[in-house]
Amino acid sequence: MNTSESLTRRTMSTQPDFAQQRGRMITDQLQRRNITDPSVLAAMGHIPREQFVTRRYRRHAYSDSPLPIPEGQTISQPYIVAYMIESLHLEPQHRVLEVGTGSGYAAAILSQIVSHVYTIEWYPQLVQLAQKHFTLCGLTNITIKQGDGTLGWPEEAPFDAILVSAGGPKVPRPLLEQLVVGGRLVIPVGQEPGRQELLSVIRRDDTRFQHLNLGAVAFVPLRGVQGWGDEA
Ligand code: SAH
Repeated sequence: MNTSESLTRRTMSTQPDFAQQRGRMITDQLQRRNITDPSVLAAMGHIPREQFVTRRYRRHAYSDSPLPIPEGQTISQPYIVAYMIESLHLEPQHRVLEVGTGSGYAAAILSQIVSHVYTIEWYPQLVQLAQKHFTLCGLTNITIKQGDGTLGWPEEAPFDAILVSAGGPKVPRPLLEQLVVGGRLVIPVGQEPGRQELLSVIRRDDTRFQHLNLGAVAFVPLRGVQGWGDEA
């Protein structure tokens, strides 16, 4: 055996088979818990989650849990990403806003389902990191910016759907105002940072919004003027 062959063998035996793990994530974590939307399952089967976690946690990329990312933040549990996105009832022509880009994983999943994703992240370091992940994966229909996502993105509004990936004390008014009629917003809301109810809000007309409670969740705090402020 020559050197390159032995190297290849060593790499192959120590590298986890991510494609296989991704397949198991779909069946064991998502379908078993009743995620059925084919576009969500296909997107989660396509995006390499291992590219969105830090090197240290790469082996755990497909574990059934959130994982740490820089700035004390987390990449959400795969099931929660799927559940939130499924509840948005997305269609291919939709334009979607995400608040709380983090690693960029949820935005990457969204980018496979809809025409364009706008995503806002508080920490400049995470904006850079997520942008790197989008480039590595060849994703071109995502626009990212640094800022306070509780104010939405007025220049690009209205949105067909809005996904908030961090938990705030209330539903930010600017986000409701930036939804189309018939559009949906999903957001974790709770009076303690770190424990929330997942709310789905549907805009019925100019002034009426219907709220649904999708269950208890635990997200990192939503910062910003309509969140827990700057120091959360
Ligand atoms: N969707 C992400 C989850 C990241 S955790 C993923 O798939 O990895 C939530 C993120 O929300 C954190 O990165 C945090 O910095 C960010 N965040 C918190 N408050 C914010 C705000 N007001 N505006 C934009 N981003 C915010």
